[in-house]
Amino acid sequence: MEVAPSRPRRIGVFGGTFDPIHVGHLVAASEALHAYDLDQVVFVPAGRPWQKSSYTDAEDRFMMATLAIAAHPRFSASRIELDRRGPTYTVDTLEAMLEFWGDDTQVFLITGADAAAGIRTWHDPERLLRIAKVVAVTRKGSDLSAVRDAHELPGVEVLEMPLIDVSGTDVRARVRSGRPIDFLVPREVAHYIREHGLYAGTEEAARA
Ligand code: ATP
Repeated sequence: MEVAPSRPRRIGVFGGTFDPIHVGHLVAASEALHAYDLDQVVFVPAGRPWQKSSYTDAEDRFMMATLAIAAHPRFSASRIELDRRGPTYTVDTLEAMLEFWGDDTQVFLITGADAAAGIRTWHDPERLLRIAKVVAVTRKGSDLSAVRDAHELPGVEVLEMPLIDVSGTDVRARVRSGRPIDFLVPREVAHYIREHGLYAGTEEAARA
């Protein structure tokens, strides 16, 4: 009997603040899974997002991500950036994950196109592009020149997805002003936000 040659494992790594995780993130992950024939997508909530001055407790953000993806057989969440001390750089996270998964793994870093266009400003972009392919998903409001710039970066591929006009900022502002978040975030996430009184306080008012 002929044995089919095995191919390297293909893993999508989706980093973000996920404050909170919302339908835009989930559709982006699902589109990347399909377009790149990924075996799984790992959501990696940032421990201490260095680009943001204020954010919700990492354990809450991790819990919401876990709840949001629980029913999807190919989605998982990693605590790698939560359990590491100090600032966490994407490239270090990817390297640590690759070490764990082994050489026979191809990594696809999923990120918004606007973020990808600024990849040269990230920590050690050359090393990052050596170890991972970057999948830049277009999002509603994506600056078209940024998308073009992302297109031109070697190692970065642009993936068009249905434009979903939702952001963490928007969800937080809705909660604060008592507007609905139903269907913008999974039901379990809306429940968690309510139960833990997230995004309703004065600290959030300063952030959003
Ligand atoms: P905030 O509004 O708090 O800045 P955000 O919704 O942009 O949050 P992040 O957790 O920072 O969410 O995003 C993680 C990644 O997902 C980023 O690369 C971002 O560009 C991308 N992303 C977020 N929302 C969408 C969306 N609606 N469609 C496509 N990509 C998205």
